[in-house]
Amino acid sequence: MNNNLLTTAYFNEENLKDSDKFYLDCFLKLKKEFNFSYCAFFYKTQGKYILSHKHFFDEEFSNYTPEINKKDSFNKLKIPIKMQNSTIGYFLFVKKEIFIKQEKEKAKKACLEISYIVKDFEISKIFQNQLSILQNAILEKNLATKKLEEQNEKLIETDKIRSEFLANVSHELRTPLNSIIGFSTALKDEMLGGLNEKQKNYTNKILTSAIHLTGLINDILDMTKIEAKGMKLNLGNYFPSDIIKEAINIIEPLANEKNIKIEFFDDYKSEFLIDYQKFKQVIYNLLGNAIKFSYENSKVIIKIYKKENNLFIKIQDFGIGIDKKNHNKIFEKFVQLDNIYTKKYSSTGLGLTITKEFVKMLGGEISLKSELNKGTIFILKFKI
Ligand code: ADP
Repeated sequence: MNNNLLTTAYFNEENLKDSDKFYLDCFLKLKKEFNFSYCAFFYKTQGKYILSHKHFFDEEFSNYTPEINKKDSFNKLKIPIKMQNSTIGYFLFVKKEIFIKQEKEKAKKACLEISYIVKDFEISKIFQNQLSILQNAILEKNLATKKLEEQNEKLIETDKIRSEFLANVSHELRTPLNSIIGFSTALKDEMLGGLNEKQKNYTNKILTSAIHLTGLINDILDMTKIEAKGMKLNLGNYFPSDIIKEAINIIEPLANEKNIKIEFFDDYKSEFLIDYQKFKQVIYNLLGNAIKFSYENSKVIIKIYKKENNLFIKIQDFGIGIDKKNHNKIFEKFVQLDNIYTKKYSSTGLGLTITKEFVKMLGGEISLKSELNKGTIFILKFKI
């Protein structure tokens, strides 16, 4: 029992009001039994007896305030109220005349009788106080829960606004970037006339930067949609090899920049039920990383084949590789390992998180084999 809590709560206004009635009743009953001019009840709290209630029956005592153990000009009779062996309080009776033996005995007897209800009353007050403390605690908890709920709602709302904002901004940026990619591709392919070496070089730079920037924006947009659970599958029957070829076409300018050859081994000539855009994005992300984390003048191999009832796609590079301890970590949001390439290329660290999420949505699995400085193989597996 927390004594401090109890005693503080005990003397609160509500309880004192109830106590007033109770003790007045006691004093009146006692007054019927024997004679006194003034009486008081002292209650023990925190080791001290303090004046709990008083009442006078004689006008002369209207301003009288006794102290329990101090002598004064009046006569006092002090009767303890005991619970088991300890004293919980005292009744104090005062009058001008001396208390005679008979009176003292009557007082003791009357107090003994009344002490039972006093004890009950005090105990029930303790329980009542405990109950009100508990009720307050519950009330406070409920208030805190309500506040949390409100904050949560606000957070959800803020998150929605943030997602919408990101989606809008990304969309606004993507549209002009698509034009840049389209026009610079047309320029690079000399559809608008021949280019000299310098012009070709600059056109390539515009194209690769725009592709890179589109990748970043797509990552943010996709992550926003995934988090908002707003990503839907758009399934259809496609030749996965066609989708892979398209991803290779898009990424080729980046590979050319580092003189990296992309070799595609196509051993699956059937259709497959898949979400075209998401599958393309997965291949694009993995090819993008394979190129990004490879040394110049190397190669990237992509294979597609069927084994038992599974379709496998393997993307292999011979680049810097990934330490075993980081094989799980790289799929986490915003994780970028510290190496020369992550410093060189600006990126979001969202690519593999989105890739893994998409593969999961498509019902597949992604795993990797990698060793530092030897290269990396990402393996996709789909049930056929
Ligand atoms: P980022 O946008 O940085 O490429 P990703 O989520 O795609 O983010 O990849 C997370 C990290 O995993 C990269 O920063 C890189 O350190 C490591 N990583 C991913 N793919 C490869 C790879 N093929 N070879 C070496 N490291 C890789």
